[in-house]
Amino acid sequence: MIKVHKAKKKPSALISDKTIKWVERALQERKNHKARNHIYGEETIRKLLRSIYSDKCGYCESHINPSHSYMRIDHYRPKGRVRENSEHPGYYWLVYEWSNLISCCEVCNMEKGDSFPLENEKDRLFQPQKNMAEWKADSLSFCSEKPLLLHPEISTPENHLKVSICGEIREKNGSIHGKESINICKLNRRGLILNRKKAIDGIRTELKKTALSIKRDIEKGQINEENFLDTVRERFLSEFKLLKMMQNPNKEYSLMGKNMLKNFESFFIETLPDGDPKDILIKAFALFFEPDSSPLK
Ligand SMILES: [Zn+2]
Repeated sequence: MIKVHKAKKKPSALISDKTIKWVERALQERKNHKARNHIYGEETIRKLLRSIYSDKCGYCESHINPSHSYMRIDHYRPKGRVRENSEHPGYYWLVYEWSNLISCCEVCNMEKGDSFPLENEKDRLFQPQKNMAEWKADSLSFCSEKPLLLHPEISTPENHLKVSICGEIREKNGSIHGKESINICKLNRRGLILNRKKAIDGIRTELKKTALSIKRDIEKGQINEENFLDTVRERFLSEFKLLKMMQNPNKEYSLMGKNMLKNFESFFIETLPDGDPKDILIKAFALFFEPDSSPLK
């Protein structure tokens, strides 16, 4: 999960007369209201969410196949019931609320379901705030609920979550919000760990291969002090370009990309067996990521 920027201005389809009628109906029917997918999931809203979330799931960052059928629109605050509180009617007044709609993959949507734990159950709101302006996910009254699930548009998930060298998501600095978000959406599903691990291993293999080729050529005398930096620049270019690209927010699992770059040593140097040319890799990384010398600029 990473921070996602969504403009506060609501899409016109969510403030149309038609939608307002559905909101009114939800307010009357409360927990019996049947959420209308064709209203909150109307074509322009779907399109907008896909673009804001770069065709990714807001929770697990998996790429969602652009053929719409795979994209779910998750209600951050569950609309029909709340798993943690059987008395709760669900946040029925937020069914058509822009800040409550999150682009989501099928599996996260299913795993999360109606879960919405709070730090303390006594803070939970049971009915619509009188002032409709407070219905936004980041309003004072909603923030006072102190939800445990991170909201990609409100929280800064990067401060709560990190990716381990084996592709697992872990809470950062003991964050309870990080830990709960992992549990609620099952962010360490086997398939997700395998995908992330495959990407990490792929980069590690390529970096190692290149470092070994340079080591061999040094031993053969083909690389010396004079051409060392140029050779490193040339041979590592594609790998470091890829590594840099993987942290772009529009890339799948970009939190992992950010973590790989930030913790290059633990991901790619400490994991190499003794005898492998760690020194070459350390020099190459410094060359590419020292602000002044980077060939990636
Ligand atoms: Zn997902």
